[in-house]
Amino acid sequence: MIRLAFAGPVQRETMERALIDLVQKNPTRLVKTLVSHTGIPERLVESLIHLAGIPPDCTGAHLPAASRKKLSDLLTGCPLTVKALGNFSVAMVTRGGVALKEVDPKTMESRIVPGLFFAGEVLDIDGDTGGYNLQAAFSTGYSAARGCMERLKENR
Ligand SMILES: Cc1cc2nc3c(=O)[nH]c(=O)nc-3n(C[C@H](O)[C@H](O)[C@H](O)COP(=O)(O)OP(=O)(O)OC[C@H]3O[C@@H](n4cnc5c(N)ncnc54)[C@H](O)[C@@H]3O)c2cc1C
Repeated sequence: MIRLAFAGPVQRETMERALIDLVQKNPTRLVKTLVSHTGIPERLVESLIHLAGIPPDCTGAHLPAASRKKLSDLLTGCPLTVKALGNFSVAMVTRGGVALKEVDPKTMESRIVPGLFFAGEVLDIDGDTGGYNLQAAFSTGYSAARGCMERLKENR
């Protein structure tokens, strides 16, 4: 099971105090409207309110303490069950590969087989989605190409 903090890095108690404050200041407004003010998208708020067992037309003044606590739990640590991991067809990056300590990082040349150069996915390097893997492929590709050229010049 994983827990997703939709409200960001906010402690559960802090969230509950914020909800109490919002409700006290806006007793006639809908709970979903109040929670939307925290910056969480409205459709997600509607789902979380439903999961907390709060009717969609519930106003702040009618929010029971137990529901408020449940909502605070969901906003700061919604429990989600992982049913399955994605398989190879949805994989984005390969873990494992040529050990980095066996490669000269300046030229990407193998320390074991001179004249052999590595770049990108074939290396034991991986990062989160967000461009790190592409950057690693581009940077190591550039270094490997320069390394090859240097080696060719030396051997001429
Ligand atoms: C769906 C998906 C989403 C991704 N999203 C991101 C992302 O958001 N950010 C990020 O940083 N990275 C992302 N990646 C990872 C990133 O694309 C790779 O890390 C990067 O492209 C690796 O570059 P590469 O040149 O080492 O390998 P590749 O891009 O895999 O290139 C290898 C090339 O070699 C060719 N080839 C294979 N075998 C042979 C052969 N025997 N002879 C000749 N050619 C051959 C292949 O056809 C391919 O063109 C994603 C990957 C996937 C699959």
